[in-house]
Amino acid sequence: MARRLHPFHGGLSLPTHKHEATADAIQPCPLPGTLVLSLLQHAGALAEPLVQAGDEVVAGQCIARVSHQRGAHLHAPAAGRVRSVEPRPLPGMAGIAAPHIVLDLDDGQAAPTPLPSRPLPALDPWTAPRQALLERIREAGVAGMGGAGFPTAEKLAVPRSVLVINGAECEPYVACDDRLIRENAVRVVQGSRLLQRIVGAEHVFIAVEDCMGEAAAALREALDQVQAPDLELALVPSRYPQGGERQLIQTLTGREVPRDGLPRDLGVLVHNVATAVAAWRAVTEGTPLCSRVVTVTGPGVARPGNFEVAIGTPVADLVEAAGGYTPRAARLVLGGPMMGHALPDDSFPITKSSLAVVVLGVENLRATAPELPCIRCGECASVCPARLLPQQLLWDVRAGALDRGREDGLFDCIECGCCDLACPSQIPLTQHFRHAKTALREAEREGAEARAARERHDAREARMRRLEAQQAERAAARKTALSSSDAVKAAIERARARKSDP
Ligand code: SF4
Ligand code: SF4
Repeated sequence: MARRLHPFHGGLSLPTHKHEATADAIQPCPLPGTLVLSLLQHAGALAEPLVQAGDEVVAGQCIARVSHQRGAHLHAPAAGRVRSVEPRPLPGMAGIAAPHIVLDLDDGQAAPTPLPSRPLPALDPWTAPRQALLERIREAGVAGMGGAGFPTAEKLAVPRSVLVINGAECEPYVACDDRLIRENAVRVVQGSRLLQRIVGAEHVFIAVEDCMGEAAAALREALDQVQAPDLELALVPSRYPQGGERQLIQTLTGREVPRDGLPRDLGVLVHNVATAVAAWRAVTEGTPLCSRVVTVTGPGVARPGNFEVAIGTPVADLVEAAGGYTPRAARLVLGGPMMGHALPDDSFPITKSSLAVVVLGVENLRATAPELPCIRCGECASVCPARLLPQQLLWDVRAGALDRGREDGLFDCIECGCCDLACPSQIPLTQHFRHAKTALREAEREGAEARAARERHDAREARMRRLEAQQAERAAARKTALSSSDAVKAAIERARARKSDP
């Protein structure tokens, strides 16, 4: 019997534009002359480079490590020589730079599906201790490939009762998971079983949208082949943003992740299908995460398709592999057109969480009408999948009342852009919310730094007071000792005087 689903609030039915990129099999993107690997990790943390300018590296070598829980190690996708470790701009963060390793590659290497020449030894996924599996996934630098880039091993460290493998690719144009599933269905299923074993989940959903018929058929076949009766294939409605973690959990379980809460509060863990495959390969093939499937599509690209791409490949080389730009090319987006980042140029590199490069045509751009005042029509609230009141948030943000914005749920906004599309006044609500969140995070960071500086100052003052008190105590003790020795001397003198007195 088909499972009863629980549709999330709001959302939009958008034209999918996926077939352009799904007609052909995944192709290897030729290795570029130079790879650029960002050291910026999840939530602003940085990886520590293990190489410097002039160093030779081999394919698969670990070139940057993280010592905290907010990142994943980086490996060289191919052999070459480090040109520099230098700051480079970040997509979607104008004026902000982060260090990158720039790696000039040796000539004559094959495109990235080969195993790196230094793979890790394979482990048995069904008998190896859970801790060894976690350590392998960490060592292989596996990070969330659905867009967030959260380090996979850290997410797997906490046991969960429900595991959701997310193949619901709801952004228009993006089809990398669709092709990955069609061509790697057994790996998706085995990867799901591996993650299930690590977190001890009693139930596993593999979710795809109901428009992904071929991917669903491939998964059905793989589930039969692998004999995995406790894994459930779930077809969810094609509605944007169905692939959002919270929306998917609600659709499958009927339970809402609480505001300010996390899926783990419900005992649920969500991983992208590509992450499950990367974890499976790390364990069974010893392969560090050095490449990923990226969709290159849109009216501005000559031959749309899906490509296996070395991490660090500049967007320009990837577009070149897809036949180059067409005369209609008008805007370059890294990620999907709804939640991705518009790029000022094509020098930015592909990272572990880059799903797609979409080159929009002139016809895709919204007519730039002037922004009008909010008329309180409520359209934005009716489409908001996070059940927020975007017009209220806009009021908070414009009034500079960011703390009130936080209370009104600013951080629950998933920046899906539905409210922008619905707003008849053409107000770029998502942009306002994104800037407000950045400002709040920056204020929090500055507040934390100021608190830490104050605590350091208070601790120093207390230490000085303690030292002064100890010095005073020592001086008093010396004085007492001195006066007591004076008293002894006086007693001796008196005794001598008595003896000599006839
Ligand atoms: S949709 Fe636009 S005009 Fe309508 S309430 Fe929301 S912000 Fe205001
Ligand atoms: S961008 Fe934020 S406020 Fe707007 S619809 Fe999406 S979640 Fe709601």
